[in-house]
Amino acid sequence: MVRPTLHCAKALQLTLAVIKPDAVAHPLIMKALHQRILESNFIIVRRKDLKWRRQDSERFYAEHSGRFFYQRLVEFMSSGPMRAYILAREDAIAHWRELMGPTKVYRARYTSPDTIRAQYGLTDTRNTTHGSDSVESAHREIAFFFPEFQIEDWMKKEEPCFRTGQ
Ligand code: UDP
Repeated sequence: MVRPTLHCAKALQLTLAVIKPDAVAHPLIMKALHQRILESNFIIVRRKDLKWRRQDSERFYAEHSGRFFYQRLVEFMSSGPMRAYILAREDAIAHWRELMGPTKVYRARYTSPDTIRAQYGLTDTRNTTHGSDSVESAHREIAFFFPEFQIEDWMKKEEPCFRTGQ
């Protein structure tokens, strides 16, 4: 049973979490990941199912252009539907990245077998999930996926405390 936990706004941080096309293709993995989010005391602030065009993928991963995996990555990320979440909790960025595990799936299996990428990742590219790696990238990436979402307004307007995990 998931027990409700109380969170208060002053400690909240937002992050962007994305379930990549390899995982969205498998309903049971999607269900398991959603449950993992709830059990980890994240508040699901927004959720969106979407599919990228190739140019969206190229724009989002522009910092990696020139890397050996870039073409493979943009191809994969525009190959099928994704699910994006805005998640909130204290230290959301670090917690989600810890849950995801290392980028490279075989390293993840070796060093962190309980993580999402270790359990569900297929290859270093098809590694199940994305997560922001800093406050700055979380803000940029949330705006990329959820242009209609106003972070500052949300922070100001929301109730000071939330229950999650119910
Ligand atoms: N990637 C890849 N091969 C690599 C490293 C990265 O295909 O050797 C892909 C992988 O899908 C990863 C994404 O590029 O999630 C972005 O890489 P980054 O280094 O930003 O890792 P992340 O922040 O996703 O762990």
